[in-house]
Amino acid sequence: MDNCIFCKIVRGEAKSWKVYENEHVYAFLDIHPANEYHTLIIPKKHYENIFDTPEEELQNVISVVKKLVDLYNEKLGIKNVQVINSSGADAQQDVFHVHFHIVPRKTGDGQDVKWNTHPEYTEKYNEMLKKLEE
Ligand code: ZN
Repeated sequence: MDNCIFCKIVRGEAKSWKVYENEHVYAFLDIHPANEYHTLIIPKKHYENIFDTPEEELQNVISVVKKLVDLYNEKLGIKNVQVINSSGADAQQDVFHVHFHIVPRKTGDGQDVKWNTHPEYTEKYNEMLKKLEE
């Protein structure tokens, strides 16, 4: 896609700090890092989000996620990470080229993600599961 910033990065038309690439996947440091080594992993082909990305492409991406967390562990001693994908604007997707984040975490880094939980939803679980079968 012509105007997609991540496609531009893959084509070398926009600056990035490359961590790794192979035939299918490109990985680079996030320009808005939440922590050191905050990394984005993307398929080189343009897909909007997890819904339109073929399974095989997702496997390629996740293989690189695994390679990089192991590299960060080995080289940097990073033993805590969050791996995050946001798909859809309501899920806080910001760039509409599918991407996975690796966010290294450590105690006291001030980046805790807090969800508001709804224990009462468990009362609807049987009904909710039925909807998957219809
Ligand atoms: Zn793109």
